[in-house]
Amino acid sequence: MKKPIIVLIRQDLRLHDHPALYHASEGGAVIPLYIHDESREGTGEAKRWWLYRNLLQFQQSLQSIGGTLFIDKGKLEDKLPEWIKKSGAQAVYWNRVYEPDTFGKDKKLAEDLHAQGITVKTFEGALLLPPWTIKKEDGSPYKVYTSYYKALRKKEIPKPVPNVTRFDGPSNLESPLSLKDLNLKPDIEWYKVMEAIWEPGEAAAIRRLKRFIGEINQYDDGRDHPAKGFHSTLSPYLAIGAISVRSVFHYVSDRVNEHTEPFIKQLIWRDFSYSVLMHFPRSMHEPIHAKFKEFQWEEDSEDWDSWIKGQTGYPIVDAGMRELWATGFMHNRVRMITASFLTKHLLIPWQKGADWFLDTLIDADLANNTMGWQWVAGSGLDSSPYFRIFNPTLQSEKFDGAGEYIRKWVPELKHLTDKYIHSPSTAPEEVMKDAGITLGEDYPAPIVDHKAARKRALERFEDIK
Ligand SMILES: Cc1cc2nc3c(=O)[nH]c(=O)nc-3n(C[C@H](O)[C@H](O)[C@H](O)COP(=O)(O)OP(=O)(O)OC[C@H]3O[C@@H](n4cnc5c(N)ncnc54)[C@H](O)[C@@H]3O)c2cc1C
Repeated sequence: MKKPIIVLIRQDLRLHDHPALYHASEGGAVIPLYIHDESREGTGEAKRWWLYRNLLQFQQSLQSIGGTLFIDKGKLEDKLPEWIKKSGAQAVYWNRVYEPDTFGKDKKLAEDLHAQGITVKTFEGALLLPPWTIKKEDGSPYKVYTSYYKALRKKEIPKPVPNVTRFDGPSNLESPLSLKDLNLKPDIEWYKVMEAIWEPGEAAAIRRLKRFIGEINQYDDGRDHPAKGFHSTLSPYLAIGAISVRSVFHYVSDRVNEHTEPFIKQLIWRDFSYSVLMHFPRSMHEPIHAKFKEFQWEEDSEDWDSWIKGQTGYPIVDAGMRELWATGFMHNRVRMITASFLTKHLLIPWQKGADWFLDTLIDADLANNTMGWQWVAGSGLDSSPYFRIFNPTLQSEKFDGAGEYIRKWVPELKHLTDKYIHSPSTAPEEVMKDAGITLGEDYPAPIVDHKAARKRALERFEDIK
């Protein structure tokens, strides 16, 4: 009888396009093993809840085809050798994880296992193409997104591997832990709104993709408008691996029409983020452009509290921060506005904002989050220039003209006219009275003045230029 193969389950909680699981299941008994490591970066409170829900779904999917999810906790490098010993496995397969710390540890582990005669096979399950395949002619990584995009677009994207439909598990092993033992589900039920919005699992992800495709012709114009909902909301599923990016790419491309490219471009931003993170691993914590190391930030805890609570007096910022807190998600345009406000109007370090996002987003993703924050702060590759400082009121007027998004998340302003909902502090007394709002009581006055904040930010930038 063939010895079993261990498949490490990480950010790939699905049976479709799961190369490691698929190839292992062709070769005999398989042990799908999830080892929870508490020290892993990027799994904040909201993502832990999402992880729990998706692990539960994945466990059920595996059971439906005769498999078992084996669960353990600790450090992979300590636990995996124990599992190899007790199961008599001859091989370990995994889909590569391109987070620098994990990738480095995986590489070392693979070398150690090879030395002990254990076969290790690794597969592409996270990106359209492995990060090292898109490089300049001289072998250096691309630093500009458009060049990366053009280079990737010339390559063939491999088709997804077939779904895993049957499974042989080992007969002599039991999971030492249950999902509950991982304590991922919070004791206090603060996640009720999230639970009502986000359905876990690959079937839900595929349904979302299909629904989105029906409206993809509206994506290019509509994606920047938070109230319109023309974006895919697939990021939570991509982040946890409930859907594979290659499946999304081919599903969209196979239904070719001229409206798909703006969406494909965003999927390629995701690949680009990973390429940048892999080549600049310190960028998670440090600005890529070294001059920003000298930038003089403020550490004002009152401003910070106003930002995280959605009480800045700038309705679009407050709507975004409240959406994030309630749903574990925030629209991309609003992520840019809130992040810009924190780093440029309040001069609070982007790293602090990035950590908050990682703690509160269910789609928390080390590469995309780092890219997003460095882009906004002006310190990353191919970033928005520092001197381009978003005016939150103008952004709000442009992308939420009728104030629908604001009314949803800042309900105390819902009776304000469209004209003043973006900037209540400029509304005449009568208008505020009619809307039933007293500034400073029902809704805060702006915590900073836009013009003064802009000037202060530009002066700080001058200091490091
Ligand atoms: C400050 C900041 C922080 C961010 N943090 C994260 C994060 O932690 N996790 C995360 O997945 N995305 C992050 N993003 C990127 C982007 O906001 C989200 O991917 C997007 O809002 C998800 O919504 P969607 O699935 O409807 O996107 P769609 O517009 O439908 O795009 C489809 C997919 O493309 C990818 N994508 C879209 N925009 C970007 C982008 N700007 N950069 C990289 N990939 C992108 C995502 O995987 C997304 O699901 C961040 C952006 C900013 C500005």
